[in-house]
Amino acid sequence: MSELSQLTPQPLWDIFANICSIPHPSYHEEALATHIVQWAQDKGLFAERDQVGNILIRKPATPGYENRRPVAMQAHLDMVPQKNSDTTHDFTQDPIQPWVDGDWVKARGTTLGADNGIGMASALAVLADDSLEHGPLEVLLTMTEETGYGGRFRPAARLAAKRNPH
Ligand SMILES: [Zn+2]
Repeated sequence: MSELSQLTPQPLWDIFANICSIPHPSYHEEALATHIVQWAQDKGLFAERDQVGNILIRKPATPGYENRRPVAMQAHLDMVPQKNSDTTHDFTQDPIQPWVDGDWVKARGTTLGADNGIGMASALAVLADDSLEHGPLEVLLTMTEETGYGGRFRPAARLAAKRNPH
């Protein structure tokens, strides 16, 4: 358990802490992407990846809400890896170490990756909450945004955008 588990809503922060534990700088998102796809499939959700690695997860509507407009939530998988000069940290191997400092969540000696970890965590927490009533949901997680939107305009992103013009 992470010390972030004391924060609310707890499911969101548990997912965020889990994301922090799996290295995911730009161009090294594969381990995190694989983990998230497995997570989704373990929940019985449809999950697929396109040829550049973008992830699309779908959750069907709550019974009775099938005719509602679908909602798509998008975030990117990669984070900007920066560390303090006195910190030894291999962003491709070492977990980010988040901690709670009053009203702030910080990381020890490195960037936290709240951009876009909290975006991913928010979208996945919505998928994980079976008490919510909702129309069709889609989550799109793109590869390698921080170095130039590598994944964003690729096929899965286009597809999702086309299906959900709003
Ligand atoms: Zn970003």
